[in-house]
Amino acid sequence: MSFAGRNAAVRQRTLKNAINCTGIALHAGTKVTMTLRPGEPDSGIVFRRTDIAGGAAIIPATWDHVVDTRMCTMLGNSHGVTVCTVEHVMAALAGCRIDNAVIEVDGPEVPIMDGSAAPFVFLVECAGVVEQDAPRLYIRVLKPVSIVDDGHAVSLTPTVGKGLSASFEIDFDSPLVARQSISIGLTEGVFKDALARARTFGFLTDVERMRAAGLARGGSLDNAVVIGGDRILNEEGLRFADEFVRHKILDVVGDLYLAGGPIIGHFDGVCSGHSANNRLLRALFDDGEAWTTERLRIAKKDEGLAAGVWSGDLAAGAATA
Ligand SMILES: [Zn+2]
Repeated sequence: MSFAGRNAAVRQRTLKNAINCTGIALHAGTKVTMTLRPGEPDSGIVFRRTDIAGGAAIIPATWDHVVDTRMCTMLGNSHGVTVCTVEHVMAALAGCRIDNAVIEVDGPEVPIMDGSAAPFVFLVECAGVVEQDAPRLYIRVLKPVSIVDDGHAVSLTPTVGKGLSASFEIDFDSPLVARQSISIGLTEGVFKDALARARTFGFLTDVERMRAAGLARGGSLDNAVVIGGDRILNEEGLRFADEFVRHKILDVVGDLYLAGGPIIGHFDGVCSGHSANNRLLRALFDDGEAWTTERLRIAKKDEGLAAGVWSGDLAAGAATA
């Protein structure tokens, strides 16, 4: 590959500086410190447990390292070392277009922060972002793949666009959440403006059941929207009228970034979660004809896009049904 060719392609990006934060582990309820560090070109996103010695501490953030999806997305390596609740920081890195980074944590959980991805976007912005001398590899969906279960469905379909777009529909048996749908093109800035602040949510009855099982010990109204009967228990209310479905898309963005690169395609989800998202990636990569990797040219200014920005084919927008 010539140097000129490299220059013309959209490049990989990493953090300019290391940065850290401290928060609560949602399930253990303990304090956890996380440090985001720059990563080498082509190294991807990698977790490192600083409380574990040697190579066993390294857990690549890829779909084939997902070992549990019941409460959150949990990654693990062949040494049995795991890290869970990775989806919100992965979503922030996807939304900020960070290709390479080392995420250090001093325990088995990423801090939950406020239950959204906004604190992680803020960290990335504080650390700064630099371009690297390597082309960004996109994963283009070439043919539809889907996972359909009782009441849940997810699919990835090809798009003529240059990025990811996503539609999601939830339908809960609750007057407050009920049916919400959203369709969004993840163009530059859309993640931060429309999705990053949407918090995870739960029903009070589920929270009580999880607590009884020794889970969600760190859960509070500071890191989740909690619905009790026909009201939101959080004093400040909702950040978006359709915050629930926006959070579901945030989770999708994080889970799909475990593809190992940005996906060019359209995601459609109905009442699905982390498990279906991971099974969808496994189905995609199981079929060699369903995807290909591709480099993108830097968009010209007269195309209405800033340099290096990709665009989805749907206008950013949300509809609540
Ligand atoms: Zn989530």
